[in-house]
Amino acid sequence: MNQAARNIPLDAFWMPFTANRQFKADPRMLVGAKGVHYTSDDGRDILDGTAGLWCCNAGHGYESIAKAAYNQLLEMDYAPAFQMGHPIAFEFADRLRALAPDEFKHVFFTGSGSESVDTALKIALAYHRARGEGQRTRLIGRERGYHGVGFGGISVGGIVNNRKNFGTMLTGVDHLPHTHLPENAFSKGQPEHGAHLADDLERIIALHGAETIAAVIVEPVAGSTGVLIPPKGYLQRLREITSQHGILLIFDEVITGFGRLGTPFASQKFGVVPDMFTTAKGITNGTLPMGAVFAQGFIHDAFMTGPEGMIELFHGYTYSGHPVACAAGLATLDIYEQNGLLTRAAELESYWEEKVHSLRDKGPIKDIRNIGLIGGVELESREGEFGTRAYEVFLKCYKAGAMVRYTGETIAMSPPLIFEKENIDTLIDILGEAISTTA
Ligand code: PMP
Repeated sequence: MNQAARNIPLDAFWMPFTANRQFKADPRMLVGAKGVHYTSDDGRDILDGTAGLWCCNAGHGYESIAKAAYNQLLEMDYAPAFQMGHPIAFEFADRLRALAPDEFKHVFFTGSGSESVDTALKIALAYHRARGEGQRTRLIGRERGYHGVGFGGISVGGIVNNRKNFGTMLTGVDHLPHTHLPENAFSKGQPEHGAHLADDLERIIALHGAETIAAVIVEPVAGSTGVLIPPKGYLQRLREITSQHGILLIFDEVITGFGRLGTPFASQKFGVVPDMFTTAKGITNGTLPMGAVFAQGFIHDAFMTGPEGMIELFHGYTYSGHPVACAAGLATLDIYEQNGLLTRAAELESYWEEKVHSLRDKGPIKDIRNIGLIGGVELESREGEFGTRAYEVFLKCYKAGAMVRYTGETIAMSPPLIFEKENIDTLIDILGEAISTTA
């Protein structure tokens, strides 16, 4: 198997978000996964410091998920959810909403985080129209926001490279400033400064009129753009302003959902309840593609007013509520709940925080950020270069047996929630060594 993996031609698969030429010249192949480790094709254990791509929150290789998916495949492999139903999708939606704050009564299934984002934006627009406020068409995102790669997501997203080659974005979109302030460098947990940045929303409202704005979307904790933690009071302030002006607030919880911050969802960690939130990734422990949008009752109910028998929302996917993904998702929730994983990050948080910040003297480090079981180590850029140092550190970690992510000049970590303290020690040791030996 391993040898065969090396003999496969590599040019057919055009890899996503990858330096294809560089990768294919020196591939890093993963061929197995169990617990907190991957196995590489040269037979090494690689400590998973990122839960896959922020998705395998319970770690890898669960027989119960495999069996649930297998059994569902045999019982009924696929069934549409357009004007038809299958019990497992209803059961899964009910289990999911029970994890969220009480206000969230409804779950709309998608196939990924990007689809969840587009779904939430479309529901926001259609919600206002359903209530006779169809002039509310503007959307507000944030600089450095990552909301997947659909046109809706890149329009409200604020990562320049994800937008610049792809033509005209959605019109009527504004961006709040990002929350990454130099005076917060090396803060532990939520930084002190920056709640006032939410007030920029007032400027946008003054510019266009609140009556033209449909929704604000932010990641409660931004991951893909370098681990940005919301300053104390910032999310509360966004909630106050949006509520005051009838603007919907959407949290993109694709990475924060399912225990990453020590609560099932970020709204519970920060005590701020949005109107909708998006999820994916951890919903099936990364095993099968799936996403979901959670909506408060009043949003759903605004659609339930027309004549019966009419479709209320002209939106959905072939794979919305896919029975096999639902089966994997239900088995995943069992694992999360039986092992206390949705709150485990809270137990590990202070140990994790100390360990991540212990890297401070290891080399040219500009900032260290952490919350829940997320850590970001931002390196100083080399003269005239951006991201090369973090890339080298990432490669060194892989060679030394640990998977981390790099985004820009930041090394991001989001280990499985089943990590033990010794796994944290190993990960941080490997990263520290990689940083200290990278000039
Ligand atoms: N939103 C956020 C906040 C994300 O972090 C991601 C993926 N990293 C997405 C959306 C997109 O999810 P997907 O890749 O499943 O489309």
